[in-house]
Amino acid sequence: MKVFKFGGASIKDAAGIKNVASILGRFKGEQLVIIVSAMGKTTNALEEVVAAHAKSDGRAQELYDAVKERHYEIMRELFDAGDEVFTSVNDTFVEGEWVIEEDPAENYDYMYDQIVCMGELVSSKIVSAYLNKVGLQTHWLDARDVVATDNTYREGWVIWEKTKANAQREVGPLLAAGGFVLTQGFIGSTSENFTTTLGREGSDYSAAIFSYCLDAEGMFIWKDVPGVLNADPRLFENVIKLDRLSYREAIEMTYYGASVIHPKTIKPLQNKNIPLFVKSFIDPDGAGTEISSDSEETYPPIVMVEKNQSLLHISTLDYSFVAEHHMARLFNKLADLRLFVNMMQNTAISFSICVPTVSDRVERFIREISDEFKVKREDGLELMTIRHFTPETLENLKKGKIVLYEERIRETMQLVMRSIPPIQRREN
Ligand code: ADP
Ligand code: ASP
Ligand code: MG
Repeated sequence: MKVFKFGGASIKDAAGIKNVASILGRFKGEQLVIIVSAMGKTTNALEEVVAAHAKSDGRAQELYDAVKERHYEIMRELFDAGDEVFTSVNDTFVEGEWVIEEDPAENYDYMYDQIVCMGELVSSKIVSAYLNKVGLQTHWLDARDVVATDNTYREGWVIWEKTKANAQREVGPLLAAGGFVLTQGFIGSTSENFTTTLGREGSDYSAAIFSYCLDAEGMFIWKDVPGVLNADPRLFENVIKLDRLSYREAIEMTYYGASVIHPKTIKPLQNKNIPLFVKSFIDPDGAGTEISSDSEETYPPIVMVEKNQSLLHISTLDYSFVAEHHMARLFNKLADLRLFVNMMQNTAISFSICVPTVSDRVERFIREISDEFKVKREDGLELMTIRHFTPETLENLKKGKIVLYEERIRETMQLVMRSIPPIQRREN
């Protein structure tokens, strides 16, 4: 069997869903497990509902209604008025309404997961109903009956053994009955049956979880790009498609910010040697990119950019050396706050790290070590990672930037940079 994943961009409207059905029509009769994300930007919209509910500012219901209306609009284009999908989707939306009607939960992340999961639950119901309507028999499956996680809300950690047993029990019989199996990305469930999510953009990872647990022969993610490119096409010109990549190269790329694939996706596939194909839903005949072990090992320069980075220069208050016991404390605190270090360097009296500027975690880190350390902080930076670089590409990429920090390990170069505002002639 194969696992297919369709992201938000592929099912953002009725035309998108029809296109997905036409792609799937080519695979009629094959054993497919299909994972879908929420439609378009639904997750962002639901995040706003959560924020409004947490503030009790009275806007949550209105924002939630707008999400509902957008879905009904798409459904009216796809189904006849009396279709039972309207009731089924409405029943799901009502579950979100129950959460909004209660007082906001103390645990924001818990509340977030109970509301945001609605995006995937309704998109999967709509796509599955549409596939059945056009003659592609499809069984809808609740991913929460399969993907078992701990209770780290918004970043659930998969409990693999349990998930594997669930997958084989739930999916096997449906595939055996004939037809496709369609389920949600991004969501899972705790042992107490509370919904968890796997982290933003986590549907690729869901597809890898199903692929791993069901020993898929291949996983296919359908994107709005021809495949994996050697840089983000929104940021760079003259990018080229990479026809083949090794797992290792793909792990390095996604870890350092190639947002085309969720970083957790590759490892489970690599462990079972399952090839990953990144294909275009706009041009399904295109060859795409194949990620597998037996790939050529010569690559063009590959560029990844992570924006919103902070550089922290940490030194001791008493000007003593930054010694091992200091490091131990700093790393423990970083782990506690789940603040991921993208780059680090130490000298005798200072230790510098580059971290993403996420929510209030950088402030908290600085505050919670302030009894022993002082921190100089620079914000608004970008981290650029270039693999297989050539001197010319490096020169090009540095144009218009001030490089604050540069490090090279074998074929990888990392730069922390700030943009230089262009000099302008004064008026008069
Ligand atoms: P999905 O709809 O599956 O969630 P995403 O929008 O998350 O898809 O990922 C596809 C997008 O990733 C592309 O539209 C592209 O702008 C961006 N992207 C960033 N880096 C790359 C890269 N190296 N190669 C291809 N696309 C990239
Ligand atoms: N819908 C979720 C998100 O937007 C998961 C995903 O699309 O991968 O983050
Ligand atoms: Mg995505």
